[in-house]
Amino acid sequence: MKLLSGSDADIRRAAGAIRAGCLVVFPTETVYGLGADTFNPRALAKVFEVKQRPLFDPLIVHIAGLDALDRIADLALLTREGRERLDLLAASLWPGPLTLVLPKKSAVPELATGGLKTVAVRFPDHPLAQKLISASTGALAAPSANPFGYLSPTRTEHVLDQLGDKVDYIIDGGKLRVGVESTVLDLSSPLPRILRPGGVSQDDIEKIIGTVEGPETRTNVIAPNEADPNTADKSPLSPGQLKSHYAPRTTLFVYAPDKMQNLAYNSRAAYLFFDGPSRDRWLGHSGPKNLSPEALPNIRALSESGDIQTAAANLFALLHELDDSGYEAIHAETAPPSGLGPAINDRLFRAGA
Ligand code: AMP
Ligand code: MG
Repeated sequence: MKLLSGSDADIRRAAGAIRAGCLVVFPTETVYGLGADTFNPRALAKVFEVKQRPLFDPLIVHIAGLDALDRIADLALLTREGRERLDLLAASLWPGPLTLVLPKKSAVPELATGGLKTVAVRFPDHPLAQKLISASTGALAAPSANPFGYLSPTRTEHVLDQLGDKVDYIIDGGKLRVGVESTVLDLSSPLPRILRPGGVSQDDIEKIIGTVEGPETRTNVIAPNEADPNTADKSPLSPGQLKSHYAPRTTLFVYAPDKMQNLAYNSRAAYLFFDGPSRDRWLGHSGPKNLSPEALPNIRALSESGDIQTAAANLFALLHELDDSGYEAIHAETAPPSGLGPAINDRLFRAGA
């Protein structure tokens, strides 16, 4: 494995590797992706092997311009309304953290779509992702660059730890802006439906195309992450929707804010609050006595000020850090349910599923 910068020479090198059927980890605005040439089934097979991802779990095809859409999606199979929705969403939310599920062109290998007749497409807005896609084959199939079922990487160190010896190149893009995966929206059926909440909120989508069906929501807590991903739903509608996904190794419990406030302190556990005020309230009554917050690496907040975007951007990095610190358990508080809140909570519930 070689770590690359975003220099033009490095991008050319990585693009050559993609064309030669190798795997390149690249930054996007959401999480790091494990990229391969969409049209090379052998390269796709390597992605599944490296990630140990089940073959029924389809990849997202990343493009760097709308002209590439035609090579991947069979737009003639969309209804007129579907076509209009696609045009409107592409015009206002692409490039960005929105993945659209569309009818697939037969040139896209089945392996990329988990055998489905539809394909998931995204136009990321990270400049290095765009450069790599354009300089290679114009269509990179890429899941998140983590072993299946484990936390998505938002920093190169996460990738190095998890897949470092198994990929050819990693392009370093530093810390990523959004930090949770893209929203997956199905446009292939008559009623558009969010299959996975993510970096674009349902509100933002509805402002543009009107009502969409929301994702299956998980409201209440509070189970440890002992579910085995292999015995969870065998053929989920949107396969990333397996109950246990994004899981840390440490047992994670998720609580509504009022429940979190009542948790008794245990110095061998970690506590992940949504914001600073919530953490401080807890420190005021249930938390450890006589300890300053700075002295406690196991008591954290996703965003000090409660900014939902900062919270999303920090989510996986904080879970990684707490997971690596050997705590007995991680106790996490849900985010407020607006904007990116549902995406954050979805990841927390799955991590704790
Ligand atoms: P990842 O890139 O690891 O975030 O995973 C991509 C996710 O996108 C999959 O796990 C699915 O949930 C979703 N997805 C990809 N292609 C399709 C498709 N054709 N239909 C429904 N969901 C899809
Ligand atoms: Mg993933």
